[in-house]
Amino acid sequence: MSESRVAIVTGAARGIGAATAQRLAKDGHAVAVVDLNEDSCADTVTRITKDGGNALAVGADVSSTEAVTAAVERVADVLGPPTILVNNAGVTRDNLVFKMTDEDWDMVIGVHLRGSFLMARATQAHMVKADWGRIVNLSSTSALGNRGQTNYSTAKAGLQGMTKTLAIELGRYNITVNAIAPGFIATEMTKATAERVGVAWEDYQKNAAANIPVRRVGKPDDIANAVSFFASEDSGFVSGQVIYVAGGPKA
Ligand code: NAP
Repeated sequence: MSESRVAIVTGAARGIGAATAQRLAKDGHAVAVVDLNEDSCADTVTRITKDGGNALAVGADVSSTEAVTAAVERVADVLGPPTILVNNAGVTRDNLVFKMTDEDWDMVIGVHLRGSFLMARATQAHMVKADWGRIVNLSSTSALGNRGQTNYSTAKAGLQGMTKTLAIELGRYNITVNAIAPGFIATEMTKATAERVGVAWEDYQKNAAANIPVRRVGKPDDIANAVSFFASEDSGFVSGQVIYVAGGPKA
């Protein structure tokens, strides 16, 4: 059993973030469940507390400096100084480049890049003081390029650069920074894509699985397991890395 810490997971109302929050709670950490709307965090918090864990619901838009400052202060006051951060909050606004609007671009870059930067800047102060920290950024196989995702693939590739730079800057304080790049994970995000392209959800998953070496799509727990490793004491010499969790070398 690893030492108990305070973790923040953004976008933890559902999907990968919810599974990650539950997993970190099982690992013995107190978990701040952060999402746009505090009420939407209730299910995740209830599941954690039912299992005997300690969780706090926090509403915050990660792309807002004021909201992030307030959220991190509240977590520190209620749970204690946060020393584990999982930058998971995400949105998609897919379109071919000639149809992509300024708003689609700004929204996706704002949540993933600005949001992860703001959260990392606010929490690193606590990690430096504790002389220990773990930051895990959610990238994506889309970082390698994906049709219809100029905004999203740029953000996810940018997060890999942010990961490496933060690893270099913060390493001296025993803070590691790593990125996980998931392939296809069955969540509301991929379900919404299936709906948009007009393919039944079951068929969409079957088609995706056929092109994945392990012949299945991913589950939120597949990502939570990788986060658990990066957040653990045992991963202290692994930093600035990007691990593709995609059922194969790429999706
Ligand atoms: P999801 O089911 O759509 O969950 C994302 C969560 O983030 C939602 O609860 C959403 O809240 C929240 N969120 C959005 N904007 C936010 C903001 N500004 N501030 C705070 N929270 C915000 O997505 P997911 O599939 O679990 O994905 C989680 C992460 O993994 C994302 O970064 C995604 O890009 C990445 N990823 C996913 C896949 C995949 O196949 N699913 C693959 C690669 C990478 P609302 O519901 O209120 O919008």
